[in-house]
Amino acid sequence: MSRIAYVNGRYLPMRDAKVHVEDRGYQFADGVYEVCEVRGGQLIDERRHVARLKRSLDELRIRMPMSFAALGIVLREVLARNRIGYGIVYLQITRGVARRDHAFPMPEVAPSLVVTARALSRTRNEALAAKGIAVASVPDNRWARVDIKTIGLLPNVLARQAAIEQGARDAWFVDKQGAVTEGASTNAWIVTQAGTVVTRPAADHAILCGITRMVLFDAIKARGLALEERAFTLEEAYAAREAFVTAASQIVLPVVAIDGRPIGDGKPGPIATALRREFHRYAEAG
Ligand code: PLP
Repeated sequence: MSRIAYVNGRYLPMRDAKVHVEDRGYQFADGVYEVCEVRGGQLIDERRHVARLKRSLDELRIRMPMSFAALGIVLREVLARNRIGYGIVYLQITRGVARRDHAFPMPEVAPSLVVTARALSRTRNEALAAKGIAVASVPDNRWARVDIKTIGLLPNVLARQAAIEQGARDAWFVDKQGAVTEGASTNAWIVTQAGTVVTRPAADHAILCGITRMVLFDAIKARGLALEERAFTLEEAYAAREAFVTAASQIVLPVVAIDGRPIGDGKPGPIATALRREFHRYAEAG
């Protein structure tokens, strides 16, 4: 079965799913995106992902190409046409097609909307979580507005590649003060020796405010765990009892090594494992 993508009003087989060479997403990375988990054929946390999408669009002054209700219908249609039970749905909105010029097109053009979906292997994801992942630290050389979920991901691409070339799976960005900001496509967390769960605050634009991160706050509080939203250094992470990452595509993934140093006993920690198991009690499905 060929995968089907939605492209500006049409559902097309992947091979025919194309955008214009002068789309501003292609020319300038002038666009935003979202990724939602799909589980039991349902969208997870659509409401929160759409709210973040709206914020990203507002920050860049890009118009929403359709109503949020219509977007919900398109997302579900793409899931149905691709028969996705477990996986992810990806959506991208760019400022649209116009002759190449850095300034916004004048008169305004219609924004472009693309939606794709991909099935994931639950067995493979669970096996990965049971094993845990290694991460490698890299300097955070991104722009100052990484709180906006833009499609401009070149530093993230290079960081991830550098991590892979060091035998790790994810990269953790480290700022000039030596504090971890976040992963290349995840939020970063540690559990201190005292058992406090720590993650960086989202208030200063230095991280993307992950939806998984926000939902996990509820799971952490419900477990009665101590939670601190504060910056933590790479040194503190090396000495942590546990570490993990969160993202819609992976939920909670234990980190068992950072820069080749084992974290805790070098195995997925009990807190990360429990939070992964309990996450969906606090997420919205629909
Ligand atoms: N941080 C970055 C840089 C990301 O790219 C992502 C997800 O793509 C996240 C954090 C996690 O966000 P979410 O939990 O909403 O998937």
